[in-house]
Amino acid sequence: MYFSKFFVPTTREDPSDADLISHKLMIKSGMIKKTASGIYNWLPLGLIVLRNVEEIVRKNMKASGAQEILMPMVQPAELWKESMRYDQYGRELLKFSDRSDREFVLGPTHEEIICEIFRSYPTSYRDLPMNLYQIQTKFRDEIRPRFGVMRAREFVMKDAYSFDINKKGLEKSYEKMKQAYINIFDELGLDYRIVNADAGNIGGDKSEEFHIIADSGEDLLAISDKSGYAANVEILNYDKDPTELKGTPSPDGKGKLIIKRGIEVGHIFQLGQKYSEKMKVVMKNEKGIAENLFMGCYGIGITRIIAAAIEQSNNEGGFVWPKNLAPFEINIICLDPKKREVFDVCQTLYDLLKQNGNTVLFDERELRPGIKFSENELLGIPYSIVVSPSNFNNTKYEFNDRVKNQKSELNIEEIKKVLEGN
Ligand code: ATP
Ligand code: MG
Repeated sequence: MYFSKFFVPTTREDPSDADLISHKLMIKSGMIKKTASGIYNWLPLGLIVLRNVEEIVRKNMKASGAQEILMPMVQPAELWKESMRYDQYGRELLKFSDRSDREFVLGPTHEEIICEIFRSYPTSYRDLPMNLYQIQTKFRDEIRPRFGVMRAREFVMKDAYSFDINKKGLEKSYEKMKQAYINIFDELGLDYRIVNADAGNIGGDKSEEFHIIADSGEDLLAISDKSGYAANVEILNYDKDPTELKGTPSPDGKGKLIIKRGIEVGHIFQLGQKYSEKMKVVMKNEKGIAENLFMGCYGIGITRIIAAAIEQSNNEGGFVWPKNLAPFEINIICLDPKKREVFDVCQTLYDLLKQNGNTVLFDERELRPGIKFSENELLGIPYSIVVSPSNFNNTKYEFNDRVKNQKSELNIEEIKKVLEGN
């Protein structure tokens, strides 16, 4: 990508309504633009990262055997009345009517719709288990939209729904999804924890959350220093300041609790028969007896992951994307593009790296070096090559590694190797 042709409207001033680093950075680097409270545009740079996250999620969902569908965002109110959530869900559910006064809601989640799909076809218990998922825009009329896309009203979620004929099947489907989530968050390259959670508004039996560990996280997590025990403090029914839980014995009897902050990026539930009962999703089991199906539902906050990744990857040295999320792996910073020979060296490097399969930004703009360097940092690109009139005729290039915070002189083969190894 030629920087001069790339629509990246960077800004210098901090946005007035942003407290969180990720929110500031996403606005300043031209990834997103606000349209209304909690409602954002994804501009080219942001959308590249969004697609990177989606692809990692999609690949691992597919590998787990789940099948992708796409459900409507606009949902008939009747279905929500049937599940009793039309009134229960609260004011986060945006309700409206069409020209014929038919009532609708904007989907904050899709249990009702998936049940309606599943009950409409004659299927047999032999077709189970089945897991269907989508990557789609959700709307929740959050009381306090804030932190940019971290807590937005319109946001992208991956939501999956599993169907089984009995509880044992559900437990298996749940474990399979949990493993897929582990693979996803490993591949995203983020530091995360799986914690026991409250089933909240969705309801059901067992549930666990995936949290990205970050000081700015809204949730407090209680983690044992000796065992694998970890829980969202919400479920501990502790009525005092939960940070006081630090140092108290872990509920599993092993070790003491430490308290960390987390950002909820994924949530998996064993819903059981809660929805299938109300919405009559029934199937005959192998004995010929009609059973309400056992459901699981599994969410990932696709857009929230991006903000969370920035929160986690930001330190004194500035912010650097984890490799699999980076919009570009490397930026070629051409310091005097008007000099033909300098430009040509950069162009050759650009072509070689692109042929090698790397994602490359080529900063060939006629701007002051200081601006180019600071924008390279703002964009969080892990690696850069700086080519200037004083170093263009070497076989070695000035290579900057922002992951290790190192500068070195490398030839093209060595550069390819660094990019490969990360
Ligand atoms: P929270 O507790 O943060 O409000 P939730 O528990 O209501 O989230 P779920 O119903 O579990 O959310 O939705 C699945 C995932 O969708 C969450 O784990 C989160 O990553 C993401 N998500 C939920 N609400 C929002 C939001 N307002 N903005 C961005 N992402 C969200
Ligand atoms: Mg949740």
